[in-house]
Amino acid sequence: AKQEGKSRIGHVGACPEKAPFARQAHIRRRIPTAVGDSALSLQYQPVLDLATGEDAGVEALVRWVDREIGPVAPGEFIPVAEQTGEILRIGAWVLDRACAQSRAWIDAGTPRKIAVNVSPVQLASGTLPAVVRAALDRHGVPPRMLELEITEGTAIADVRSAASQLRGLIDLGLGVALDDYGSAYSSLAMLRVLPLTTLKIDKAFIKDIDVEPHSAAIVQGLIQTLNGMGVRVTAEGVERESQLDTLRHLGCDTAQGYWISPPMAPSDLDRVHKLENTL
Ligand code: C2E
Ligand code: MG
Ligand code: MG
Ligand code: MG
Repeated sequence: AKQEGKSRIGHVGACPEKAPFARQAHIRRRIPTAVGDSALSLQYQPVLDLATGEDAGVEALVRWVDREIGPVAPGEFIPVAEQTGEILRIGAWVLDRACAQSRAWIDAGTPRKIAVNVSPVQLASGTLPAVVRAALDRHGVPPRMLELEITEGTAIADVRSAASQLRGLIDLGLGVALDDYGSAYSSLAMLRVLPLTTLKIDKAFIKDIDVEPHSAAIVQGLIQTLNGMGVRVTAEGVERESQLDTLRHLGCDTAQGYWISPPMAPSDLDRVHKLENTL
């Protein structure tokens, strides 16, 4: 049996879809090499300002192509990296690369605000404010060009510590968003205790917004409540024009989704931008 276990792991490269356990073990083993091997990259998904129809910035999304098993989705490897602690190195790498890209866009005369996903594990480590400041300084990026998106996929253990770190970053000029609001993990309690500049409504709530009056009513209430608190609202997962129309009608501030644009490499984003400006 021992022999067979070994050979299954050995076959992971040849059969990426085979043996989920072996794949998991492979991912866990390979994560520490991902940053060093330059197997990671960032894609950027545009955010649309619904009031003006203009570009409101982009969200950075990490991509990993392992040399043996090929692309591994963040939904698959981020939870593993959170368990092993490797998320701290990956998170620092993402912040550094996002700030380098921000600098490049500033220099090109096309500055874009970048939102970066941050794990509760990074907050729990207590190192996030220093890592963020170092990345901004290294590339000479003004804090207002960066927003941090916090997901509650892993529970925020020390909420008071998280809140005070985020407060410090907001005072520096950064944006702070609560991600995936309305998904299984996010809670009303977080809304009350975390200092926020933006709330991102999870795609599960946007899915039926154009056909389901209850969905629309919930989102409308959220927008009114949050805007009343001085917090902007972004809708995630907009896949149809009718969803976008509904969101605009409800007064939602910004939106993201495949209907607007998929995540793209920076070079593709720049090409689309140029094209739009010459039309
Ligand atoms: P998220 O932050 O909520 O990012 C949105 C996800 O929805 C992305 O998946 C994006 O590609 C996808 N998406 C965008 N538009 C649509 C749409 O119209 N319909 C649907 N169905 N999906 C859409 P992705 O890139 O696979 O990322 C999944 C999650 O992994 C992210 O969810 C985020 O929680 C996490 N993640 C991604 N990059 C990072 C990172 O650098 N650090 C950390 N800690 N987490 C990350
Ligand atoms: Mg996000
Ligand atoms: Mg989200
Ligand atoms: Mg998500």
